[in-house]
Amino acid sequence: MALKLTLDLDGCTGCACCMMECPDLFDIDDESGMAILLEPTPADDRLDEAERAVRSCPENAISLERV
Ligand code: SF4
Repeated sequence: MALKLTLDLDGCTGCACCMMECPDLFDIDDESGMAILLEPTPADDRLDEAERAVRSCPENAISLERV
């Protein structure tokens, strides 16, 4: 079992909540102003962090799967 984060850029407004909540998983692109997913497949022991990132997004643009 592994974790897989997905970022839907069509839904992203660039609010940066994800980066502020989980700076090791998300950043904001200087040029586009939108989110960048730094770690699409975080290790299993980062589940809490990944779930926090999902909850941080007011646009529901971040999803998490166990694959
Ligand atoms: S929290 Fe959501 S809407 Fe805001 S920058 Fe991150 S992915 Fe985009």
